Amino acid sequence: MQRLAAEGIDVVRVTYPDLIGTDRARDILLDHLPSACDHGLAFCRAVYHTSPVGDVVPVSGGLDAGLPDITVRPDLDSLVPLPWEPGVAACLADVTDPATGTTAPESPRDLLRTVLDRCAEHGLRPVVGPELEYFLCDEAPASPSGWQRYSGAAGVVYTAGLRADGDNHLLRTLRLLRDMNIGATSGNHEFDGGQFEINLTHSEALSAADRAFLFKAAVKELARKEGKLATFMAKPFNDAGGSGFHLHLSCDNDEGGNAFDDPAGPYGLSATARHAVAGILAHAPALAALANPTVNSYKRFGPDTLAPWLIDWGLDNRSAMVRIPPERGSGARLELRLGDASANPYLLIAGTIGAALLGVLAGEEPPSPLEGYGYDTSRAAVLPMSLPTALDALEADTELIDVLGKEFTASFLSYKRNETERFHRHVTDWEFTEYAYHL
Ligand code: GLU
Ligand code: MG
Ligand code: MG
Repeated sequence: MQRLAAEGIDVVRVTYPDLIGTDRARDILLDHLPSACDHGLAFCRAVYHTSPVGDVVPVSGGLDAGLPDITVRPDLDSLVPLPWEPGVAACLADVTDPATGTTAPESPRDLLRTVLDRCAEHGLRPVVGPELEYFLCDEAPASPSGWQRYSGAAGVVYTAGLRADGDNHLLRTLRLLRDMNIGATSGNHEFDGGQFEINLTHSEALSAADRAFLFKAAVKELARKEGKLATFMAKPFNDAGGSGFHLHLSCDNDEGGNAFDDPAGPYGLSATARHAVAGILAHAPALAALANPTVNSYKRFGPDTLAPWLIDWGLDNRSAMVRIPPERGSGARLELRLGDASANPYLLIAGTIGAALLGVLAGEEPPSPLEGYGYDTSRAAVLPMSLPTALDALEADTELIDVLGKEFTASFLSYKRNETERFHRHVTDWEFTEYAYHL
């Protein structure tokens, strides 16, 4: 308390991820932090089950149970001053059920911890590096959504400076992220106008998920501060590609080396790495439900998109779903390109590691890696092309459900089935344009 007060902090923003990765928070005046830590903060359980537009989604433990409390406890190790909001420090939190004192089964942070415990039982310590893309948008009252792609952007990939970013949004964001100490390393303009990518350094998996979660909230908040919108939607525009959430994965071994590296193994990869790839390929349709969790996500997939379309892997091949970057030694790793930016970082990371673990336990070898063009359907199966198909695949994948837990999966499936049903009932602009005049 004294240290925080000396640093000028008088408010702590206690934040936790809900089921879909939205940051839910309360601002606590510093004097009340000790009581928040002792007793926890009471939040309405529905926040796990409330859509971004405010609909309470009817899943078990929500409205059907009278919207009971959850207890939210600050994790003080995660305290970090927000560089753009003087006086405020953010703090991650864990969620327990006050009735039992145990963790809430649908808490994404706890889900990831459970999966990591399973890995530890088998001597595996996953290392994760997140890479996220997003679009920056300007307010545009005349456009249907009220937003349009950032007009200060010329839209050429890897163009640095004012030619691609007339307001220097990226420079400002990078510096503020550095001051937040969440391991941002570099940023660049992406393929489409107004689209940016920022890379986070690799680390132990829970810290990587925490950092990716704080990163998304920070970028959105910074954009709002400047009157803009940063969106991590998978495919926000018809005339531009989607935004990926690529995940780099390796594993530490007992000697502090990289368990994915083996100069004598096929492709310079260890058996652990090859089995991890096989597990991710085998469970990809179910994993898509977590990595591509919205009805919009499936509009990002397709041939020639640099997003994946087929369930395949390749050596330094950006058209494959799993790419093995060229580095070996300490840099030997896989890059899963499946996830899109809308994914909840905890669920994407837990699902990916869970699928990799299943592959390691099964000891299966992947098929030969893809060479050349990765969008040839004669060579590999197509990913699920809609959210309902991916949800069905998750429901059918009993092995992955065993790793993720039945309660979590049931909550996730019913939340997402409700979302799908709401979407299918909604009349879109496209339907009006397509049908209204001609039929
Ligand atoms: N935007 C592409 C995606 O949706 C990735 C482009 C890249 O390789 O950076 O995954
Ligand atoms: Mg990129
Ligand atoms: Mg990448």
